[in-house]
Amino acid sequence: PPPTTRHEHDDQDRLIGGLLSPAFDEQSCRSRYASSLYRRPSRFRPSNHLVERLRRYEARHRRCGPGAPLFKEAVEHLRSGRNAARSECQYAVWTPFNGLGNRMLSLGSTFLYALLTDRVLLVHAPQELDGLFCEPFPGSSWTLPAGFPITDFAGTFTMRSPTSYKNMRQAGSISGDHRNVTAERLPAYVFLDLIQSFTDAAFCEADQRVLAKFNWMVVKSDVYFASMFFLMPAYQGELERLFPEKEAVFHHLARYLFHPSNDVWGIVRRYYDAYDLARADERVGLQVRVFPEMPVPFENMYGQIVRCSQRHGLLPKVVQREDGAVSNGSSSAMASESRRKKLTSILVTSLFSEYYERIHGVYDTNPNVEVHQPSHEGEQRTEALGHNQRALAEIYLLSLCDRIVTTAVSTFGYIAHGLAGVRPWVLLRPPSPEARAEPACVQSKTVEPCLQAPPRGMCGAVEGATDMGALVPYVRHCEDSHGESQAA
Ligand code: GDP
Repeated sequence: PPPTTRHEHDDQDRLIGGLLSPAFDEQSCRSRYASSLYRRPSRFRPSNHLVERLRRYEARHRRCGPGAPLFKEAVEHLRSGRNAARSECQYAVWTPFNGLGNRMLSLGSTFLYALLTDRVLLVHAPQELDGLFCEPFPGSSWTLPAGFPITDFAGTFTMRSPTSYKNMRQAGSISGDHRNVTAERLPAYVFLDLIQSFTDAAFCEADQRVLAKFNWMVVKSDVYFASMFFLMPAYQGELERLFPEKEAVFHHLARYLFHPSNDVWGIVRRYYDAYDLARADERVGLQVRVFPEMPVPFENMYGQIVRCSQRHGLLPKVVQREDGAVSNGSSSAMASESRRKKLTSILVTSLFSEYYERIHGVYDTNPNVEVHQPSHEGEQRTEALGHNQRALAEIYLLSLCDRIVTTAVSTFGYIAHGLAGVRPWVLLRPPSPEARAEPACVQSKTVEPCLQAPPRGMCGAVEGATDMGALVPYVRHCEDSHGESQAA
């Protein structure tokens, strides 16, 4: 029987308060309606307005998406190289960049952009992404169909691409004033290049008005640029209604969009059952990411985890002995733990097995603590489907945890706590690999992901602001990268 803490799995739970459409075939994507059985109820509720906008979006996607006559028409225009003056359907085509976490952040952001601007979201899914997620929109598809006129995404959409909005503006081939822009004289598509430091390239009201004239837009990004919309007066009213709880924007978007395919769900289920996670009273997720550009040595990183855990009581009773080794605590502490019989399951995710091995060793003799690690891939291999499937399964398993400890700056961790709706404990990045991070960790004030690439310039009321974090009350600095970045 499916594990659940609730007696009934009613429609409210199954459909996440109306977030999900009931119109899907259950077998084609088992994770979609079953996920809520594996989670504790979220403390966030989708607003009625969000639910209504999603249903309207789905209707538009069916009307304009692949397979529909309007889609055929729009593709013909794209093929002709000219933008049509009036088009019932407009599109945002997302193309992947960087690791899975980065991809999910930018895909979620692109969907919000599509919602706000009445575009239809389509996904360019190379083979390593194909089969990772279920279709999110009922009665249609978000995947670019075979025969789509743009094929060489990697070659076409680069920094220097003449189709990039930023480059068109710089070359003077397009005006920044929408009144001087005639839709039918525009090229058939525009490339919105929002990778890392370019997030401010197109978020002036004036830019948005020009961009609105393009029926086809290709978006490439590796950050959570959804935060940017909160700085734009034009979107603020709608965002307020969509997300009265500002902290839960990505949480709702991710739970709506990202459903692991049956293959990935199979991996999640296998681990869930093998580790008997249903039995645990508390599930603690520990995500240890050692970045190639910040190669923190094992002992430093492990020490940081222990300091964080001790300070905030995250892992059960880990104490450090004088000799630097870690033990299970005094025997009396252990005895009292046993008496309570509270079972804690610690889920470690990392590319390496050494953290798991050390922690597993610490709790080896404690029957109330179980330690697991699904895989240790050794290195990032974003181009391999199997590798990505395991990565998604682990993000998902982490997101089933009650408490989550993540590594600063890791988008992998952002997705996990965002999906979970849990404020993570963030292991702070030390100033250098050998230096000590102080404090070892802080609890994030939000479940939102961090933007990581604060805009250098903005427009209108916020033009010239030096501190984006002080502009609107719900945009704040991230905890994890020395006050430079922001979260919505
Ligand atoms: P970030 O680099 O930490 O921001 O996260 P990304 O997800 O964008 O890129 C890191 C990639 O490395 C992941 O997508 C995985 O492919 C791989 N990876 C990193 N950490 C883990 C892990 O704990 N488990 C697995 N299975 N893969 C990981």
